[in-house]
Amino acid sequence: MTEKIIKLIDKLQASGSLTLDEYEILVANPTPEAVAYATERAVEVRKKHYGNKVFIRGLIEISNICKNNCLYCGIRGGNSECERYRLTPEQILSCCAEGYALGFRTFVMQGGEDAYFTDEAVCSIIKEIKEKYPDCAVTLSLGERSRESYQRLYEAGADRYLLRHETANPEHYAKLHPKEMSWHNRINCLHDLKEIGFQTGCGFMVGSPYQTNKDIARDLKFIEEFKPHMCGIGPFIPHKATVFADRPAGSAELTCYLLSIIRLIRPNILLPATTALGSIDGNGREKGILAGANVVMPNLSPADTRKKYELYNNKLYTNAESAQALDQLKSRMLSIGYEIVCDRGDAKTQI
Ligand code: SAH
Repeated sequence: MTEKIIKLIDKLQASGSLTLDEYEILVANPTPEAVAYATERAVEVRKKHYGNKVFIRGLIEISNICKNNCLYCGIRGGNSECERYRLTPEQILSCCAEGYALGFRTFVMQGGEDAYFTDEAVCSIIKEIKEKYPDCAVTLSLGERSRESYQRLYEAGADRYLLRHETANPEHYAKLHPKEMSWHNRINCLHDLKEIGFQTGCGFMVGSPYQTNKDIARDLKFIEEFKPHMCGIGPFIPHKATVFADRPAGSAELTCYLLSIIRLIRPNILLPATTALGSIDGNGREKGILAGANVVMPNLSPADTRKKYELYNNKLYTNAESAQALDQLKSRMLSIGYEIVCDRGDAKTQI
């Protein structure tokens, strides 16, 4: 079997493509030899495009108010135990000022689907950030909106948009979301974003409830075909106020193996070692980088709101996860041979 897996990894590196069945074989057989080989190849590819550089993004969690009820998510609208907050434009701008001084050149505004953040409200914040910091990229992660809305945000100056597809299997999607939410709409949003010109990011949780190896294979095929500029994956971690409270978390090992595979599918993709990976494993961020990731997204939100953006239990928001502790993150990256750089961190070559 190992020989077969090695051949598949070589094929993936050479062509960036496998069949659905082949992806499933890879996913189902994370033997130590397969993982070691995939890691080695992924790091080789990563170094060819990005050397030992790690890009940083300042993550600003602008609101935990959400109209949706994603079954896995701690800030879903139906969670009455969640203490809600929303940052003012002034607070968001002051996060950017602090981040800029620390060396961040990308600001990511992420939040629940909060009706307060109309196109007008978001566009005005984007314009202000871009005016003050023309050398910075603005990334949005504000969920599903209309094509017209995305167009306005783009015209206001936003550069990138993250919208995880969550799962490439519509039936699996239906088990993770209430019936009002539609897989087709989410996928259409991703296509709209890309057509409009955003650097677009998709992604999924590893080990989410009901996820099968075939589902993960479909996620990989989706990434191959959709050709995103970015891809965020992290382990599913249960939240006590959700129906999935007692479900097991996804594993850091499988997440890292999948990071390597995604790097081989799209050599110059922007691939973060996510907060969820750092939360499930004390060295998750380092392991993610060593598996082929090239981005980290420390938290720039105001200290008193961080705890409230609780997507899952035990989410990290201090130490190397905190933008203010960038020095600590820098030295942790140096200790594994990688260097944090302070630039916008766009994808290196045309995707
Ligand atoms: N409202 C935005 C941002 C969602 S939060 C949007 O819809 O895109 C960002 C990501 O966190 C989600 O896309 C989801 O994949 C992840 N997430 C949510 N709950 C989680 C959990 N319990 N464990 C791990 N990741 C989770």
